[in-house]
Amino acid sequence: MMNSLKRKIVFNAKNLIGWKTKRKIIVISVDDYGNVRLDSPKAREALDNEGLKIYSRFDAFDTLETRADLEALYETLTSVKDCNGRHAVFTPFALPCNINFEKMAETGYEEYYYELLPETFQKLSALQPKAYEGAWKLLQEGIEKGLMVPQFHGREHLNLKILKEKLASKDHNVLTALKNRSYTSISTSGYKTISPMAAFEFWEFEENSKFSDLISEGLEAFEKVYGYRAEHFNPPGGREHPVIHKSLKENGIKFLDTYLLKQEHLGKGEYKRVFNYTGKKNHLGQLYLVRNVVFEPTENRGLDWVSYTLKQIEAAFRWNRPAIISSHRVNFCGHIDEENRSKGLSVLKQLLTEITERWPDVEFMAANQLGALIEKGE
Ligand SMILES: [Zn+2]
Repeated sequence: MMNSLKRKIVFNAKNLIGWKTKRKIIVISVDDYGNVRLDSPKAREALDNEGLKIYSRFDAFDTLETRADLEALYETLTSVKDCNGRHAVFTPFALPCNINFEKMAETGYEEYYYELLPETFQKLSALQPKAYEGAWKLLQEGIEKGLMVPQFHGREHLNLKILKEKLASKDHNVLTALKNRSYTSISTSGYKTISPMAAFEFWEFEENSKFSDLISEGLEAFEKVYGYRAEHFNPPGGREHPVIHKSLKENGIKFLDTYLLKQEHLGKGEYKRVFNYTGKKNHLGQLYLVRNVVFEPTENRGLDWVSYTLKQIEAAFRWNRPAIISSHRVNFCGHIDEENRSKGLSVLKQLLTEITERWPDVEFMAANQLGALIEKGE
């Protein structure tokens, strides 16, 4: 547990350098929308019975957003308004593609096949109508109303090199997960630099060259699914190497989320430390944004998430920085356990209420809108 002085220093240190504004801007960046990690309560039970462990709350609760998840989320976002009369807005860093579980089953799990998100929702609303009927339409409505402004989190939320190697070795855990229309509880990749969920992680540096097609196809798919080109990127899982920024740029990405202190992998486990801040540009002219507020209300860290988050926002505003909140969909998922969703959303609602009371001139904004504002140099 960090003591309060140490915590204060960390909060302030995150805001020492970067783009400045007197405006009270709140961005809420939420990773993982559109991704199927866990299929259903039934699937989780089957995985448990097969001995697949729960390593994180993602393995336990992270399912594709259901109709009830979205209904409850929208209710929370619309419970407040900023000084421009705008509701709170999520920037979901979202996936347009998922594993085509049926096609993989038909072909004996020898090859990887993916599908577009509307097809995934269509299948799920047939398989689990209670949870998924109307969910896709509701997600589209949220986008139309500006409550959700999805941006790019990769084509799919998994590392294809690892999946292919696991298929070749007929890995029990991976096959069990796939047979249950899930891709979770897979603890190790066999490489210390690659997480099975991190699409752009690699061992040999040359593996980066394979990512160009993933990026161009992913951004095409994103446009087909969400209705517009993405311009903001946050990689799924671990951090990317900047060598892929060129293909991201060629395919429309102007803004890149990154860490304040990034351990940049150079290949075979060698790392270099890179310092970043919001407003920094790379040699291609793409703009970096660094999330400076952590909000994971269902992660048990033994702290009060409302006051902890408010303190981080306060530090950002004190240094005249926008507050870029980092969160994950899993905090707002109720398909496995409704309690998980109601806890996450009640903390979110409290946070939003306190924000609007404390800073009446607050402005809610999507991450790419903040990027555009910084770009304009205002
Ligand atoms: Zn993610």
